[in-house]
Amino acid sequence: MPEGDTVWQTARRLHSALAGKVLTRSDLRVPRLATADLTGRAVLDVTPRGKHLLTRVEGGLTLHSHLRMDGSWKVYDTGRRWTGGPGHQIRAILGTADRTAVGYRLPVLELLRTTDEHRAVGHLGPDLLGPDWDPDRALANLLQDPARPLGEALLDQRNLAGIGNVYKSELCFLRSTTGRRGQDLFVYGRAPRPCLRCRTSVRVADQGDGSRERPTYWCPTCQPGPAPARRIRP
Ligand SMILES: [Zn+2]
Repeated sequence: MPEGDTVWQTARRLHSALAGKVLTRSDLRVPRLATADLTGRAVLDVTPRGKHLLTRVEGGLTLHSHLRMDGSWKVYDTGRRWTGGPGHQIRAILGTADRTAVGYRLPVLELLRTTDEHRAVGHLGPDLLGPDWDPDRALANLLQDPARPLGEALLDQRNLAGIGNVYKSELCFLRSTTGRRGQDLFVYGRAPRPCLRCRTSVRVADQGDGSRERPTYWCPTCQPGPAPARRIRP
């Protein structure tokens, strides 16, 4: 799943390609939006909110999308070949005279009134990369249920918005150790290879409830706190 910074960068690319320009092409390939047509409207801005993307257009409308596990938005010069995947994975096309944005594999795509955006993103806690970032509130949210495993609380976007599964494990590692500069990832995806700091075998366990389970990686030596493990993978 893309982390908040990936979504933030996607929003920036879309914003610089589309904002201030009139849409000359609009093709939303989900059944509910089959007849929706945004051509002729200018794009006002593209804003990330946690891992949600809000594309606001003239007339008080917002196209809300979410990348979930493997969705993406690509931007091409109009007329250039698209390379983001097979055509049947395209869910949205927004084109201007010179740039075309193509949304691939978007599991969430809906058109809202801009005044109703809170229905899509109102549940989110303070956004790590947003103008509303409030560390005190995020911390208070995280500590609401002291019995809850930290990994679950960090992924719950109602506490703070923007952390995905990779940063969850990496942040918990860095919070426990001094880390070491120059490495991309200390623990995420490394089980059962040795910890980069102490050489202990990195461990992994699923954490979360039912369908929301995600693997959590940690070093049992560097992070000796209460183990988050419930079901250890052999
Ligand atoms: Zn270690």
